[in-house]
This record gives sequence, structure tokens and C-alpha cells, in this order.
Amino acid sequence: MPEKTRLLTPGPTPLPEPVRLALAKDMLHHRKSEFITIMRRAQENLRLLFGTAGPVLPLSCSGTGAMEAAVCNLFQPGEKVLVAEAGKFGQRWGLIAAARELEVVTLSAPWGKAVAARDIEEKLREDPAITGVLLQHSETSTGVLHPVREVAAVCRRLATLTVVDGISAVGLCPCPMDEWGIDCLLTGSQKGLMLPPGLALLALSPRAWKKAEKTRSGCFYFNLIKERDSLTGKGQTNFTPPVNLIVGLDESLAFLLKDGLEAVYRKQWALTMLARTGVSAMGLNLFAGEHFAWGITSVLLPEGIDGALVLRCAAEKFGVYMAGGQEHLKGRLVRIGHMGHVDWADVAAGLFALNQGIKEAGGFCGSRDYLERSLAAWRAALTVPPGEAPSMTHS
Ligand SMILES: *Cc1c(COP(=O)(O)O)cnc(C)c1O
Repeated sequence: MPEKTRLLTPGPTPLPEPVRLALAKDMLHHRKSEFITIMRRAQENLRLLFGTAGPVLPLSCSGTGAMEAAVCNLFQPGEKVLVAEAGKFGQRWGLIAAARELEVVTLSAPWGKAVAARDIEEKLREDPAITGVLLQHSETSTGVLHPVREVAAVCRRLATLTVVDGISAVGLCPCPMDEWGIDCLLTGSQKGLMLPPGLALLALSPRAWKKAEKTRSGCFYFNLIKERDSLTGKGQTNFTPPVNLIVGLDESLAFLLKDGLEAVYRKQWALTMLARTGVSAMGLNLFAGEHFAWGITSVLLPEGIDGALVLRCAAEKFGVYMAGGQEHLKGRLVRIGHMGHVDWADVAAGLFALNQGIKEAGGFCGSRDYLERSLAAWRAALTVPPGEAPSMTHS
């Protein structure tokens, strides 16, 4: 058995030590001043992370709960929304919207590709009754990144709300809500935020709040207006929050933001370069082409290689836990998560375990210097001047 395990899954992700220690603390009472101070401090950092001047609501649920809360609080049954669907989580938007009895128009991209902003624009022009566009920033099932900035600009022009599942993007790549004109941005605790699962965070734009004020949510628990009012008024949630997750959040935000947001994104981009270079150097196919996420790298396995065997070998022999493909890509993809408290050595271990796993499954992977090449790409990505790297800032 390997001595150490490495969680390279796209959530849950490894936790930094200060976060683990914070989670071990005894309970605070959620209506007393000590906890309220923590809530308010976390708010400041959350606004920075989300790039918004408005409140960022903590919700007691996994990420999907926040997706449902967004749909129920922003749209009335019978309203028409457009779902940009490029994978499993895009499908989930469609299912949630259907459960809310919305009329769903679906715009799909093949798995591995992103839905283009111009296609969304065309649909919106064709059908002015559409009141919202629901999409993922990073589609975790395929490792694809959607052009959220362009989509939000289109939606602004055509007076439609942009609702973004940023669960595998917030804290991993720039997604400045106010600047890009996003109307709803949400995430979960167990990915970029380096916390256990169970907490979600959600923010709305001023025009989305106006829409929410006119919408009967039909929810007792996930009433975003009431949550906003208690958060901004009293620094509290309406019901008992997951106290230790909030205490951990305060710690994880301090840990994440200690060198500034730019350093957060630069680190993520460099890890992505490390993973992608290594995968290509092994002669394997990257599943996401031009539009790739910064927290996950998906690898298309050679024909005839059993993905389950590769993953089992990586876990049992090398202690590296990665994810497989979902739905029709089961057994065909390996998804290397590089989210949360993960560093270059973890990702290098992931590449090595992948290489060895493929050998074990009867395949052969390319050049032997894939580790040197991937580490060189990582180092270069950390040091290239800002002008030659993608934007690491919120602007
Ligand atoms: C993980 C993930 C989800 C699901 O979140 P849960 O916390 O499991 O509810 C939804 N969307 C995306 C993009 C994800 O990465």
C-alpha cells in the first residue's frame, strides 16, 4: 500500500492544514458576536473572490442546492430559459429547470467542446421570450471552459440573465462577476475553496435581485431575499449554518488570498500547463482543446485501454486518486483534478501514475521525458510576463 494518498479528484479536494485545524475547533454559537465577526470577515474576502460589490450568500447544501436555489428564486414556472449544455453538469441545469417547470431550450455542444457565445446570441435573437441563460463556467465532466465573459456580454445586450455554475471555476480561474456582467455566480465548498463538501455560496447582480424580488420562489428554506436581508442586516443566516464550515471558510479564504488573486490564478494556470504538457508529451489526447478549464485536465485514453483499470492501478500502486469519464465516456477518460490544495509535485505524481496505469492496462505512453517537459512548462507559466499569459486578474 502506498504510504501517502493524493486526491486529484475534481472535488472533494485536499485541505490545507490551517483549514483542517479550524474545522476541528469546538462550536461557536451562530447568533453570538464571535461568529458574526467571522461571517463578516468571510464576506469581505468572498466579495473579492467573486469580484462583486454585493453580498455572497452562504447556503447549507452542496453546489447543486445552490443551482436549484438560483433557478427557483430567479424564474417562475412557465418562463423560458436557455441551457448551454456541454456535459453532465449542463444536463443538470436542464433537469433543475424542468423540475421548476420552466420551458427549457437546449443548446448543446459535443462533449469536449464549448457552446459558443455567438450561437447563444442567435438563439436569444430568435426567441426573445428567453429570460435566462444557464451555463457552467467550467464543465467538470469534460474539462471545458465556457466563454462566460462573452456570453454575459451577449445576455446584457439582449436583457437576459446570465446564471453561471462556477462550482469548478471560482478560486481557480478569473470570473469577476460585476465586471463581466454575470447575474448569478455560485460555487460549492469542496473544489477551489479547499473545504469539505456541504456549503455553497451564491451571489446575484442588482438586476437579478430585482428579478428575484418579483419572483415567488416557492421555497421555504432557500429564500434568497430573506437570506440576503439577514446577512446584510445582522451578519447571520436565517437558519443554523454549518458553523465549522464557515469557520473553515474564513481560514481557507485567508489561505487562498494571502498573496492576492493574481497569484491564485497564476498558480492554477501553471498547474494546468504542467498537466496538459505532460499529457501531450506522453502522446495522449487532451479531451478539451482550445477552451480548457484551469482546475481539471481530461485525458482521452487510447482505444482499447480500460480506464477503470488505469484508475485502479494509479490508486492502489501509487496512492493517486483521479476520476474517470461520466456517461458515454465511462472508461474512456481520465480526469486529473488540480483543484484546491494541490501543488506541482501532486500533479507530477498524477502524470506518473497515469503513465504507469496505462502501461499496466496494456498500453504504451510516448516519450520518457514527459515529467521534465511538464515541469519546464510549469516553471515557464509561473514566470512568463503578464502580457504573454492569459489574464490573471479580474480585468
Ligand atoms: C461538482 C460540480 C457540481 C455538483 O456539485 P455538488 O456539490 O456535488 O452538488 C455541479 N457543477 C459543477 C460544474 C461541478 O464541478
